[in-house]
Amino acid sequence: MAERSAHQRTAAALLCTGALLLCATTASAFPLSPGEQLIQQIQQQQEQQKQLLQQQEHLLQEIEQRQQQERQKQLLQQQEQLRQEIEQQQRQQERQREQRQPQQQQQQRDKCGYESCHVTKPGLLNVHLVPHTHDDVGWLKTVDQYFYGDRNDIQHAGVQYILDSVVEQLLKNHERRFIYVETAFFYRWWKRQNQDMKNDVRTLVNQGRLEFVNGGWVMSDEASTHYSSVIDQMTLGLRFLNQTFGECGRPRVAWHIDPFGHAREHASMFAQVNTFTQTTKKMKKKQQQLFFSFSLSLCPGILPNGYNPPEGFCWDQSCDDAPIRDDPDLEDYNVDDVVQRFLHIAKAQANVYKTNHIVMTMGSDFQYENANLWYKNLDKLIDYVNERQKNGSNVNLLYSTPSCYLQELHRANRTWALKTDDFFPYADAAHDFWTGYFSSRPALKRYERRSNGLLQTCNQLEVLGGPVSRDGPFGKGETLTMKKSLAVAQHHDAVSGTSKQHVANDYARRLANGWNTCQVVVSNSLSALSGSAAPRVYCDLLNISVCSFTESSPEFTVTVFNPLGRSLLWPVRLPVNGSRYSVSDPGGNPVDSQVAPVSDSTRDLRRGRGFAVNELVFEVQAPPLGFSSYTVSQSQDRTGIKTGLNRNQTRAETRAKTGLNQGPVQIENKFVRATFDPDTGLLSGLMNLETKQKIDLTQNFYWYNGSDGNNSDSDQPSGAYIFRPNSSTPFVISKTAKIQLIQTSVVQEVRQVFSSWVSQVVRLYSGSRALELEWTVGPVPVQDDLGKEVMTRLDTNIKSGGVFFTDSNGRELLRRRKDFRPTWKLKQSEPIAGNYYPINSRAFITDEEKQLTVVTDRSQGGSSIQNGSLEIMLHRRLLYDDVRGVAEPLNETSELFPDGLVVRGTLLLSLDPPKSAADKHRPLGQETVLQPLLSFTKGKPEPSAKLTFSGLQAALPPAVHLLTLSQWDSDSVLLRLEHQFQTRESRTNSEPVTVNLQKLFSTLEVLGFSELNLSANQWKEDVKRFDWTPETEEEKWEQKSSVDPSFWDVTLRPMEIRTFLLRVRVRV
Ligand SMILES: [Zn+2]
Repeated sequence: MAERSAHQRTAAALLCTGALLLCATTASAFPLSPGEQLIQQIQQQQEQQKQLLQQQEHLLQEIEQRQQQERQKQLLQQQEQLRQEIEQQQRQQERQREQRQPQQQQQQRDKCGYESCHVTKPGLLNVHLVPHTHDDVGWLKTVDQYFYGDRNDIQHAGVQYILDSVVEQLLKNHERRFIYVETAFFYRWWKRQNQDMKNDVRTLVNQGRLEFVNGGWVMSDEASTHYSSVIDQMTLGLRFLNQTFGECGRPRVAWHIDPFGHAREHASMFAQVNTFTQTTKKMKKKQQQLFFSFSLSLCPGILPNGYNPPEGFCWDQSCDDAPIRDDPDLEDYNVDDVVQRFLHIAKAQANVYKTNHIVMTMGSDFQYENANLWYKNLDKLIDYVNERQKNGSNVNLLYSTPSCYLQELHRANRTWALKTDDFFPYADAAHDFWTGYFSSRPALKRYERRSNGLLQTCNQLEVLGGPVSRDGPFGKGETLTMKKSLAVAQHHDAVSGTSKQHVANDYARRLANGWNTCQVVVSNSLSALSGSAAPRVYCDLLNISVCSFTESSPEFTVTVFNPLGRSLLWPVRLPVNGSRYSVSDPGGNPVDSQVAPVSDSTRDLRRGRGFAVNELVFEVQAPPLGFSSYTVSQSQDRTGIKTGLNRNQTRAETRAKTGLNQGPVQIENKFVRATFDPDTGLLSGLMNLETKQKIDLTQNFYWYNGSDGNNSDSDQPSGAYIFRPNSSTPFVISKTAKIQLIQTSVVQEVRQVFSSWVSQVVRLYSGSRALELEWTVGPVPVQDDLGKEVMTRLDTNIKSGGVFFTDSNGRELLRRRKDFRPTWKLKQSEPIAGNYYPINSRAFITDEEKQLTVVTDRSQGGSSIQNGSLEIMLHRRLLYDDVRGVAEPLNETSELFPDGLVVRGTLLLSLDPPKSAADKHRPLGQETVLQPLLSFTKGKPEPSAKLTFSGLQAALPPAVHLLTLSQWDSDSVLLRLEHQFQTRESRTNSEPVTVNLQKLFSTLEVLGFSELNLSANQWKEDVKRFDWTPETEEEKWEQKSSVDPSFWDVTLRPMEIRTFLLRVRVRV
């Protein structure tokens, strides 16, 4: 029907056209006969018909064309429609995929940690590729220069770009993994990110694609750090991760890949933080996998290439290794070669490991700034190596993390060797012992230790003083600056002394900032606790007798805050210009005080910073976790003039008290006697007057000539890291000392001068059981072009048999034997440097009857080279770089000391029976770390002021040390109690001891508490560890759990640290 209608319309059009033709013809015609006309008409009609037919033919053709066009058009339309439909379908699929992704993410969200590990293949050799970057928190550049990528002329390194780039690359591929270590850097980066980026990073962390390992603020040094600061820096870093990411941000593995040796105490601390593995620098192959087993279990893995990738497989922008060129159509196709080389390396590595799992660290210092390079090639490496499995290859590559690797080792269910000693000293060649840094930068090492003491005091006073400590009469104060500064200082190039000079200055500057903000907290808190808002002055240079306040004030009050959990007798020495003073205790009772002249060496050392001629000395009693205030008033001297003696008068008075050349010289109190050889001026003997024990003791100062590397054995010079004396025989600085004796009822001193750059005061306070050696060394002369490593040596008649003991990070003591290592046969190649060990707080030599213990005020290196002898390195000044990257000789100078730093410190000596020596050196060690804080106010105290205060209801038992008391949040505080004795170390104190938490504080009511792990980032009851099986049954380590007698009574076993979060309220 439709077709016919179309034809009809065509006919109508045809008719119309014929009519027009007809008209036109009519207009040109002549008259004809009717027949002719008829014929003509017929002819015309025929003609017309013909034309019409032709026209019709044309039209039909036209129509057909049009119809064809129409059909084509329809076809095109249909095609277009189809294309659109396909596109729509594609878009829909895309959308569906996008919608599915978040669903998958959601499903994976709870799969961080071990559950997020890639599946391994049981029958194959599984190679765990661990992409990582090692970012030093200061070394050749300062921490902030490293973060921003500033000063790339020194070293190309920018941590902010590394994190930017790694996150971008992780988001591109679900398979990829990355570990990050240094929270000091991550914190800096995180606080500058927008919400979208933070959400992306949270997703990565929640899916285990970005995993934090170690997680401390820094990767701490292990040889020169004190455990207290290490625990604090771990707590700071892990708390940030906890608060930011929760459970999935909690590291499960310690990652200590760069410290120069490993301490036993670090292993113990890591174990108490959580399940931790530890990786280390190059060690002997047979040691590749074993356990540290001290207080708790720990499993270290030892890496084959340090923490670098295998040779030829470094794809960072800083490396030159060939990329994987995998297009056969292009030049230099190298897939087969790369795979072949990789398989060879993997199989060689597997030969020295126990299981079918090996780990490869794919990264190094400050790598991944352009992470695409690494990941693009690692993706390909995994694909191409695993493709070979189709042809029978038994090697399986996977992206992994240290915790995933650890999990596989645990699943292997093997037995493991136990390691009970430590990894010191570390050497990377026969003459390259890394034992110099135990003592490098002694001034920074002491400043770091003192700063820790101040931080603990500051933390305690913030708690005791309440909110007013943070915002009070002296302004706003906080502890965070000091916490961060001190945490940064724990880095393995900071307190270790192995940074460039400008970086060491930056570490010190940060600590100084911490002091400033902390002192505001202290002032606010003390004003609240004492009820007096008198302005408070601090004197940070009392060790060189500089304090303009005491020097110029005729009357002042000194407040002594004792951060220890027991009461303390403490000698106070203040620079003054008067010659007579009266001192009264908080009860108004007179206190014995004496004035002694400032020594010449101290005068030299001040370099215009103070002018006091005398030191006022008296002993104070300070209650546990509290203070007492003493009043000092200058008295009129004999002439009635209220003024100080001038220098000459002081000297005259001193000479009268000097007892030289009048027989044996000795100083003594009721506990100790020290004798001196009158001919040499050197110490000659030490006696414990309580036990009647006596030893011969000679002490002197020596220097080793640091090797300049020009040597037939090795071209290794001595430097910031390496200790390499040119000769095993040290040079004596002087065989004799000029001495001066000062004897008063409060203090007795023998002042010894050995040379223009070495002096010492041997000092005995009336109440002290230890003999103090206050040494002053420097500027170490180097005009002779000889680098010098200055040490003091104590030579005794103790029969120590080549054995000596040194502490580990200020805690457990380790037995050392000359030229011996407990775990392998040592062929000693450096008789001095190869016998040096870190001394963090103490060392001793002993025989069956006597023990001579030395407590140090900072970390130092030391050894016992001869029987009965103990030497401690005090100062180092060297002229050559030791080729470990720092590219500077260890030659410290400053504006004030352009001729070389002068360093002062103390050694505390005590002689005891071995069975009771710890009863003395344990508390002495804590006193040295947590020295009381002195602050000064003008005049007499206000009548209403409280002059004594204790934050505790009673002193803690002698075995218990108050390690941490720190504000956690508005109503809770962090408390760490420590048993400070080792098992069998003390007859009386090595027993478990119980403390009642409710009856602890005098001003704080404890409403409740929970126990945490050591680093305070996990509830104790939630801590889960892998259980490992040691190789031999005898070595089986037993974890005894404390059984507390009651809810509030907590028991500490020897060397145990327990961490509590207390909910508190200030008592009214
Ligand atoms: Zn490092």
